[in-house]
Amino acid sequence: MKRLEDFPRVSLGVFPTPIHKLENVSRLLGTNVYIKRDDLTGLGLGGNKTRKLEYLLADAQTKGAKLVFTTGGAQSNHAMLTAAAAAKLGMKPVLLLKKRGVTACLGNQYLEELMGTERYFYDTDDYADIYAEMDRIGQERGLPYYKIPCGGSNALGTLGYVACAQEIARQGGGFTHLVCAEGSGGTMAGLALGAKLFLPGTKVHGMMVDTDPFEKITPALMREAAALLEADVTITEADFHLRALWGPGYAIPSAEGNAAIALMAEQEGVFLDPVYTGKAFAGLLTMAREGAFSPDDRVLFLHSGGAGGLFAVRDGEK
Ligand SMILES: *Cc1c(COP(=O)(O)O)cnc(C)c1O
Repeated sequence: MKRLEDFPRVSLGVFPTPIHKLENVSRLLGTNVYIKRDDLTGLGLGGNKTRKLEYLLADAQTKGAKLVFTTGGAQSNHAMLTAAAAAKLGMKPVLLLKKRGVTACLGNQYLEELMGTERYFYDTDDYADIYAEMDRIGQERGLPYYKIPCGGSNALGTLGYVACAQEIARQGGGFTHLVCAEGSGGTMAGLALGAKLFLPGTKVHGMMVDTDPFEKITPALMREAAALLEADVTITEADFHLRALWGPGYAIPSAEGNAAIALMAEQEGVFLDPVYTGKAFAGLLTMAREGAFSPDDRVLFLHSGGAGGLFAVRDGEK
């Protein structure tokens, strides 16, 4: 097996991110709940995409890219962080966003405005159209370009969360459960593969905030990332656990997600977001209510960021 250090990686964030106990939430739930602060990754307002971008943009640099394209919804945290990271590394980011969600100058749109990011909106539901448009613009400008898929969720991006699992193993803590949001799949797949490699005995739970077929996407990404690492592992259904938490739909706040955001804010002074982490934490609360955790369990919740969305996405807006 290769080591993670064998892959080119640029430094964009501040690692390791802290892990601390949520004392009040633990008392309320009758188990031990900890939080991994990937909302404090250092770039922009923090968030999970920084770990993926350390591998993806290293690859872009190695290939001599001058333009970096990516895509997502109008309030994509991934697109905003890609713009911040590419510019910092001297490459020109160009965002091709779906005209879905809040396109007003709020949240991540506002942050992109501050950075002077070049971006375009497309009224399409199909990312294939957008990837074709990236090729068109790239060829038109005649510059070497690099395309990052939605959410940075390909095999290379997934390595960012394999590395996160290794980081958690080095931090210790003996966690029995690890809970994260699943939106494009790379974070969950990386953690689940990483747990298989570095955290035996930790069950990984992906809280699905979109309706894509994650029961197929998750193991496929795990296998692709394992192949990159030349890791001799067999991925089975026992390696990942999924729950549906999308509520009314992707990027539409849910009542249970909003209640989870309020609980975390009131009890711990930690702010979750309405698109990903609030819904994921609602999933953790439901599991606790269903008796999934014993008093001896040690549950680690991944705070994957999303601060931009907290200032843009509201009830009743899509
Ligand atoms: C993108 C994102 C996720 C989901 O991660 P994926 O790797 O896309 O599944 C979770 N939380 C936040 C804040 C995100 O921006």
